[in-house]
Amino acid sequence: MIIVIKNNSEKKQLDNLVRWIEGQGLRINLSKGENTTVLGLIGDTTRVDVDLLNSLDIVESVKRIQEPYKNANRKLHPEDTIIDVAGRKFGGDNFQIIAGPCSVESEKQVIGIAEAVKAAGATLLRGGAFKPRTSPYAFQGLGDAGIDILVKAKQETGLPIVTEIMGAEHLDKFVDVDIIQVGARNMQNFDLLKILGRTDKPILLKRGLAATMEEWLMSAEYIMSEGNKKVILCERGIRTYEHYTRNTLDLSCVPLMKELTHLPIIVDPSHASGISRLVAPMSMAAVGAGTDGLIIEVHNDPPHALCDGAQSLRPEQFAELVKKLRLILPVVGKKEI
Ligand code: PEP
Ligand code: MN
Repeated sequence: MIIVIKNNSEKKQLDNLVRWIEGQGLRINLSKGENTTVLGLIGDTTRVDVDLLNSLDIVESVKRIQEPYKNANRKLHPEDTIIDVAGRKFGGDNFQIIAGPCSVESEKQVIGIAEAVKAAGATLLRGGAFKPRTSPYAFQGLGDAGIDILVKAKQETGLPIVTEIMGAEHLDKFVDVDIIQVGARNMQNFDLLKILGRTDKPILLKRGLAATMEEWLMSAEYIMSEGNKKVILCERGIRTYEHYTRNTLDLSCVPLMKELTHLPIIVDPSHASGISRLVAPMSMAAVGAGTDGLIIEVHNDPPHALCDGAQSLRPEQFAELVKKLRLILPVVGKKEI
């Protein structure tokens, strides 16, 4: 349920209303925009007296929300959420490019790639330390040692780091990680989502391989309902019958999710296509669709990469792509990077 508050209301009246609602065992999401103040009521609102609320002086209107996701719903929070990650802002008219290898292979590899992508214009560094591989016999990542390498690369380059968590038991190792990624395969690992909801780390929530937009938003809701509102969504392609590409990039979800939610959304053209030569055109298409950022796999030697070489750009290809992105970002109203 949402309550729109009249513009000229006094703070005291609003405080009283908030206290009264909380007294009924409901939680409140207060969104104070430039022009409107909206109270989002979260919990079982079936017994709330809508007529009584409507009769209050400070109330402009009361609406029940049908969608099962509340915290993530734009109706409860009309303005874009902007998430600040060590000075890099996600959402609104900001644009970020996260780049780096699929997996952390060695210190030399990660620092070399980090320096190259930074020089090309990347604003954050990615790299997988814990890898969710289809085969248990494939390279599983360096684990804790991989995180140490990413932290070193952050110290050397100043780029904030993004890396995937596979299980809550590893959380202690993520203190110096700037964005914790929840991979597609874990999008519905509800216990993990709840635990991440009790941290204050920004979470990059990838869309599940076969998840609907509503299921994806409900996963965001799991994190947010525990208190952590810093969720960045990531479209990374969904599974369809098409097998010439690794997944099917669902770009239509970008403008649609922006209607449904106030959370920032970025696109991963690497996992979505699985083919390095599709990464640049899909990145530009994603910018056209309104994405708040991109996450792109870059490797110094793709044919010898331990994971996802076929979809990885070489640093010079990445630099070419960023040049093109810089031309189109102003056209879609995004700040330059
Ligand atoms: C990754 O980012 O390396 C990854 C495994 O992504 P996804 O979960 O989207 O497959
Ligand atoms: Mn990968």
